[in-house]
Amino acid sequence: MAKTEVYTCDICKQSKSRDDLAKITVRTEGIHIKNHVNYSGLQIDVCPDCLRKKGFVVEAKTKEEIEQAKKQNEVSLEDKIYDFLSDMGVVFTE
Ligand SMILES: [Zn+2]
Repeated sequence: MAKTEVYTCDICKQSKSRDDLAKITVRTEGIHIKNHVNYSGLQIDVCPDCLRKKGFVVEAKTKEEIEQAKKQNEVSLEDKIYDFLSDMGVVFTE
């Protein structure tokens, strides 16, 4: 029997099914990060609701919609990456 695993959105802390969550992985080299001595990467699980709230397009059906979604999501990621990190409690210091 398949094990039912509960996954949690890192942003809203709600339980979601694994297939629903998008993953954002942040890796760094040569940057000092608060509270992380050996920083090997931060993985953020994000549910569709939170993606939508941050301006991502999570539903696209037609070819045009998918192309539009890709453009929009690229802009949203650049725009909102700090939001995600700040939600995760990660602060960059120089
Ligand atoms: Zn969420």
